This record gives sequence, C-alpha cells and structure tokens, in this order.
Amino acid sequence: MGKCMDTLVDKLMATGNLETEELKELLKFRNAETTEYLNQKACMVRQSTKGNKVQIWGRIPISSYCKYDCKMCGIRRDNQFAKRFRMDAELILECCNDFAKKGVRNFLLESGDDVYYTEKRIEELLLMIQKAMGDCNVILSLGEKSQAAYMSWYNSGARSYLLRHGSANEQHFRKVYPSNMSLLLRKQNLWQLQKIGYRTGTGFLIGIPYQTLDNVVEDIQFIKSFEASVIDMGAFIPVPRTPFERERSGNGEMTLYIMAILRLMLPGASVLANPSLDCVLRDGRIKAFSGGADVLVADLEEDTIMSSYNVYERKNGRLFLPLDQVGNMKAQIEGMGLRVL
Ligand code: SF4
Repeated sequence: MGKCMDTLVDKLMATGNLETEELKELLKFRNAETTEYLNQKACMVRQSTKGNKVQIWGRIPISSYCKYDCKMCGIRRDNQFAKRFRMDAELILECCNDFAKKGVRNFLLESGDDVYYTEKRIEELLLMIQKAMGDCNVILSLGEKSQAAYMSWYNSGARSYLLRHGSANEQHFRKVYPSNMSLLLRKQNLWQLQKIGYRTGTGFLIGIPYQTLDNVVEDIQFIKSFEASVIDMGAFIPVPRTPFERERSGNGEMTLYIMAILRLMLPGASVLANPSLDCVLRDGRIKAFSGGADVLVADLEEDTIMSSYNVYERKNGRLFLPLDQVGNMKAQIEGMGLRVL
C-alpha cells in the first residue's frame, strides 16, 4: 500500500491534482510512510515557491459578537454564556504595537460576523493602523460583508481576506450551519473578494459532525478549483454549550495531512498553521511546518483578551494551551531551518 500511495503523491506533485477516486484513496488509506513522503514533498514545494521564508501573522480578535448561529461555534449568536467584547480602536492599535515589539508586522483582524463593523468603521481603522504602524500588512477576517465594503477596504490597504467556506456540500452545509446562512452566498462572497484582487483564503474543519469522506474530497476540490491564495484549515473542536458539545474532536494528524495535500495542489498559496491545531495535537502548529505550512498564526500573551474570545476553549478535554510565546515559537520554527520574516 505504501508504494501505491507514494505514486499518488508523486502524481499530485507533478500535476497539482488527482482524480476523485485517487484523492479518496489517499485520504482513506493514510499511513505513516505516506505521511512522511507527502510531508517531504510538501516541504520541497514550499521551498521552491517560498524559499525557506515563513511569516507570523498576529491574530487580533477584535470582536466576539456574531449575527450567525453556527452549531459548532463558541461565539454563536445564541450562546448566552459567551463573553462578548468589542475592542475599541485604541486597544486594537495597542495589540498591533505589542505584536510589532515582537517583530510581527502582519496583523490578522478577526471577528465574528459583527454588524457593528460597517464599511466606514473598518475603513477608518485600516487607515489608522497604517498611519500609526507604517509598513505593515493587514489581513481581514470579518465575515460576509457587502461588495462595496470589500472594495473600500481593499482601497484602504487590506490585501488579504479570510472566509472559510465551511462545507462545499449543500446537504452537509445545511446540517451544520444555520438556516439563514447560504453556501451560495458564501461562495459569491469568495468570488467577489477574489475578483477585487484580495489574496482570498478559505477552508473547512476536519471532523465536523456529519462530515463524510466524500464531503472532505468535495471540500478539497472546491479549494483547488477556487484557487485559494490562503488555506485556512482547522480541526473540529467540541465547544461547551454548543449543540455539538458532546461530539468528538477532529483528527489533528488528518488535518495536517490535508494541509500538506493542499500545499501540493496550490503550491503558491499561504498555508496557515493556526492556533486551533494546538487544541487537537501537541505542538500542532509547529508540526504543520513539517508538512509545508508557511504562516504561523499567533495570539497575544495577554490573557484578558484571549480568555474572552472563546471560538474554541483554550482548555479542553485533551490539552491545555499556554498563551502564545511568540519568541519561543519563532525559535522553534527557525530550528527547522526556516527563516521567519
Ligand atoms: S463560525 Fe463564524 S459565522 Fe458562525 S457563529 Fe462562529 S463566528 Fe459566527
């Protein structure tokens, strides 16, 4: 089986794609030998497209309000136990400064789908950050907004936008996302963002309830056909006081495996190692760099901010996550022969 799977990895690397049945086989018969081989190839591809350079994106959770009620999410609208907060502009700037002191100048502004963030408010925020921070890169992840808002924020300097599609299969989407959310609308938003010129990121959760192998294949194929510029994957984590609180976590190893597959499918994309990986796998984020990831998404050390942002709980059944020590993580990545910019 190992030899056969290596052949699939070789084909994936050479052509950037596989037939549906081949992709299914690669996922279904995952084994240690194939994982090692896939990871080697994913690192080779990263080396050829990015050199040995990786980035750190400092995540700033600007709001925990959301108009949607997704069943897996800790800050879903109807979760009365979620701590709600919204940072003011001064605090956001303070966070940018804290990251800058650690050498991080890529700021990922993330929030629930919060209606407070109008076109004007984010436009002003972007201009303020750029005026205060000078040379920096702002990445937005603020949910579904109007085309006019996307356009105005692009014109105000934002160049990347993350919006996970969630599930590319309509039936599966309906089981996990609320009835007032639409897969078609989500895709339309992604196409709008891409057309405007954003480096557009998307992704999905591995192991989310009701997900089948066919769904995963469909999701991977959607990301490939969309030609995502940023790959934002995660593993499902059951969050207390949500409808899925009693479900099992997604598989961290499988998540990294799919990230490596996506690196081979979209060689030039940014593949994010985001904090949720550490919830399902010890040192999950660092391990992602052995499989072709090139962006570490890091949080601030300040507990006051992060403890309110319970998209997932930092303490769960399996692992306790210490707050991020960006300096230590940087050293670990550099120890792998990579250069953090
Ligand atoms: S997953 Fe996103 S859109 Fe859904 S409730 Fe959570 S923050 Fe809101």
